[in-house]
Amino acid sequence: MQPILSKVQECGACSWLFLDLSRSKSRRWCSMATCGNGAKAQRHYHAVRGATD
Ligand SMILES: [Zn+2]
Repeated sequence: MQPILSKVQECGACSWLFLDLSRSKSRRWCSMATCGNGAKAQRHYHAVRGATD
């Protein structure tokens, strides 16, 4: 068993840490739906969207 810390990766877009549980360890972003898509814009995508429900 590998220590879970060995799976910790740093997001290439926002520098958040995330767990890459994939075998290929090919993930580069904390979330493909946010930083993955927003990487081109080089913007922080963790802001809460739709705050008004
Ligand atoms: Zn990120």
